Amino acid sequence: MERTSKVFRPIYIGKRTFLGLKDLVIAFYAQKCPFQCSYCSLPTKSHPDPLPVNQIKQQIDWSFEQYADELSSFQQLSVGNEGSIIDRERFPKEAIVYLLDRAQAMSSLKVLSLETRPEYISPATMEEIFHLTHADILDVTIGFETQDDHLREVILNKSIRRKTFEAKIKLLGEMGVRLTSYVLLKPGPTMTEQEGIKEAILTIEYLAEICQKFGTDLIIYLNPVYVAKGTPLAKAFSLHQYKPVRIQSVVQVIAETRDLNVPIYTGLWSENNTDGYGDYTVHKDYQPEIRNAIKQFNKTQNFDLFQPFDLIELDDRQYQAQPILL
Ligand code: SF4
Repeated sequence: MERTSKVFRPIYIGKRTFLGLKDLVIAFYAQKCPFQCSYCSLPTKSHPDPLPVNQIKQQIDWSFEQYADELSSFQQLSVGNEGSIIDRERFPKEAIVYLLDRAQAMSSLKVLSLETRPEYISPATMEEIFHLTHADILDVTIGFETQDDHLREVILNKSIRRKTFEAKIKLLGEMGVRLTSYVLLKPGPTMTEQEGIKEAILTIEYLAEICQKFGTDLIIYLNPVYVAKGTPLAKAFSLHQYKPVRIQSVVQVIAETRDLNVPIYTGLWSENNTDGYGDYTVHKDYQPEIRNAIKQFNKTQNFDLFQPFDLIELDDRQYQAQPILL
């Protein structure tokens, strides 16, 4: 009783420009995710038990109050709860109805993006959301992460079977729902830089092909991996003396998948969540200018932003000859 009488705040709230659209991003505090992906520390930040719906509604009210003066200018609303926002056990239907009712104040809304796992997507749930939102585009954001089944299912412990995922992409295509898929750049503890780059490119190519096959619109959300504190994967990273991916490699993946014509947004923030090995900023040849160019690319998709940088394609042999500097 004492715990549920507390006032909770979202895990994260902020605004950004996502592919040119002004986006309000909210990750609600809710009951912790039942999955145990090896690289994710988020369930440790969430509530151990079910959270009463009023506690979630209070977070919704609080969130909209924070941006009351600019609600009408947001063009995208991206919501999650570190698991699935359409998991009825953790985010009841009453809360979704309330959220999308409050979102009616966002008069410029074009995109409603819901972070979820594939198992929660059903025709009934998508139909229901379509009826509740006035956004032009309904998007679901899924952490598929990598097309390498061993890496995804064994190393990352994602529990997302390829067949299940493809069936959901087909359903999304049939229903006119857009897919945003997270793709991890260099998630394997033993991966060389070049293996990480190649794997991310293969994953983006795979997603582009499947989405094209089923007529599903696709956005790639590329995440250069950082070592999240206290996770099982952090131990494996330490054991194998893992080096975080370089910022230059992010540009290489973007450049090499350009011909696929799939928009790419790169997540550049580790939210102070890194372990000792850190993220791309630990490298001695880290260039903040490249990070700034990627930030601008996130807004504009303008490839000319990368022209000032001399980003040579490196092969594995060169990587061995030039170890990453920490
Ligand atoms: S990555 Fe998502 S599904 Fe996996 S444990 Fe974290 S919140 Fe849960």
